[in-house]
Amino acid sequence: MKSYTKYSEINRYLNQGTFSCFDVVSFYLKNIKEKSHLNAFLSVYEDEALARAKEIDEKLKNGTAGKLAGLVVGLKDVISYKGHPLQAGSKILDSYISPYNATVVERLLKEDAIIIGRQNCDEFAMGSSNENSSFGPVLNPVNAECVPGGSSGGSAVAVASDMCQVALGSDTGGSVRQPAAFCGVVGLKPTYSRISRHGLIAYGSSFDCIGILAKNVEDISLVLSVIAGQDQFDSTVSHKPVPEYFSMLRTKKKFKICCISNINESPTLQTEIKVALNKSIKQLIDSNHEIHYSDLPLLEYVLPTYYILATAEASCNLSRFDGVRYGYRSSNTKDIMSMYFKTRSEGFGAEVKRRILLGTFVLSSDYYDSYYLKAQKVRQLIRNQVKELLKDYDFILMPTTTTTAFKLGEHNTNPLEMYLSDLYSVQANVAGLPAVSFPYGKDDTGLPIGLQLLADEDEETKLFQLTNQLIET
Ligand code: GLN
Repeated sequence: MKSYTKYSEINRYLNQGTFSCFDVVSFYLKNIKEKSHLNAFLSVYEDEALARAKEIDEKLKNGTAGKLAGLVVGLKDVISYKGHPLQAGSKILDSYISPYNATVVERLLKEDAIIIGRQNCDEFAMGSSNENSSFGPVLNPVNAECVPGGSSGGSAVAVASDMCQVALGSDTGGSVRQPAAFCGVVGLKPTYSRISRHGLIAYGSSFDCIGILAKNVEDISLVLSVIAGQDQFDSTVSHKPVPEYFSMLRTKKKFKICCISNINESPTLQTEIKVALNKSIKQLIDSNHEIHYSDLPLLEYVLPTYYILATAEASCNLSRFDGVRYGYRSSNTKDIMSMYFKTRSEGFGAEVKRRILLGTFVLSSDYYDSYYLKAQKVRQLIRNQVKELLKDYDFILMPTTTTTAFKLGEHNTNPLEMYLSDLYSVQANVAGLPAVSFPYGKDDTGLPIGLQLLADEDEETKLFQLTNQLIET
């Protein structure tokens, strides 16, 4: 079997009997083995995936197969898959096994998707380079001296390198879109309330979204239709019906698109990304879409707002990892306090500890008003400003990242530098809006460039339509 960009092609050949699900799974397993130096997978469910493929091959023969028959999916190590290890890239969850399926996993399995393995990521999804994993860094498939982005680095690398057709990641501040941009694939962060978070390890619960990575918009739209929508286990999920996105991918509609002047003119934006952005603007104008420019004056507050609120939420969410209920427990302890202390000191990595401390600080009684409360107010102002723009325009177009993939170790010693690489991705999470990162050309060294479209709540259909036009013509 060769590499197919779209699942619809694989599905057609499966139905025609040109190849079987067993062949499809074998193809990805072979690539996982050949490219194991990239460190994208933490576990590979080889025997199980092959056994499931055989079952689904039978269903295909009987005409009883589900909508995603033979779609091979990888899961970021923050999504629960019953009976399988789950560690959020952390030592503190050593030997933890998921007791239940995340809602997204339940829905994928019901439609006969095949889960091939668990993918490496930054510890507790905190990072932008995948260097914070306790299982070692993931390498960029285009240039192994560079990072793949984070925190869903393993998932982006796996999709880019044909180790699975689609991957599910999580995007709290860009963790699906930024690695998608660094690895040259498409990444969706949906509207906050679109996909159930039941079974997703929590980082910053008011930002966390499960997102989808694939080589194209078609596959993402198919998977979103299956996993989105109301869930009795997560009351924050919208009750709005889930559209059949796939059937609405093509349109002749002309859109109004807004570019952010203070981004397009930013001196910190890599020149080749600026060139790509201008090229995409020209392409849109040539296709008779309307382009306008506006400033986003609150842009400089987006990153501090995110890092105050997300760390505050993380400090609460991660308090449950105490050596009592899950995974790792330090062996050499005297009493309950030393057990908590040692377990957490030994179990968490440096970045996770930094964020727990930061979050505890901004929530402490002396600083609550000046940091946490203020950041909540600024979050609302940012959301209002972005929503205001989206009353006049269908989309905001901007780069996904300020640079293409950087070298391993380049920002590792300075956390602020690392945080700055999230400058353009956190806005969608702060505002709770959907955004897609899509590949748009390469820099002078051949590393992929990612651009991003942002739309109003529940406008995923429109996002898919325009992204498709931009990358398919
Ligand atoms: N890079 C961001 C961070 O480190 C985003 C993480 C994410 O989306 N999970 O917080």
